[in-house]
Amino acid sequence: MLHPELEILLEIQDLQTLRRDIAAAEYAAAGIPVDVEAFTQRLTERIAEREAQLSPRTQSVYKRVAKRHERVVAPVLNGVCYACFVHVPTSRGRDKGRNTELRTCESCGRFIYYTD
Ligand SMILES: [Zn+2]
Repeated sequence: MLHPELEILLEIQDLQTLRRDIAAAEYAAAGIPVDVEAFTQRLTERIAEREAQLSPRTQSVYKRVAKRHERVVAPVLNGVCYACFVHVPTSRGRDKGRNTELRTCESCGRFIYYTD
């Protein structure tokens, strides 16, 4: 079980990644018939809808992180934040408690989720 806001943040990040991918030249070069403008517009709307579903507190952290970093959520592997590569405290509940809390990396400020 993911924290509901973590789920939203991951979705936002994925939508943002997709929005960047669509605009990339490789997409057009690959002959994928995408109406870049329309798709970008739709993705931007969806991102805004999802952002609005975050609590005010999470929104303010999110905005601060997004100003500095393209990536707002980072995975933690072997106790290391894979965005800034600094050691983070290990998750407390090894199994079911994992990722049920919304946590941030103390070093880079990104939201983190545990993958191991
Ligand atoms: Zn970090």
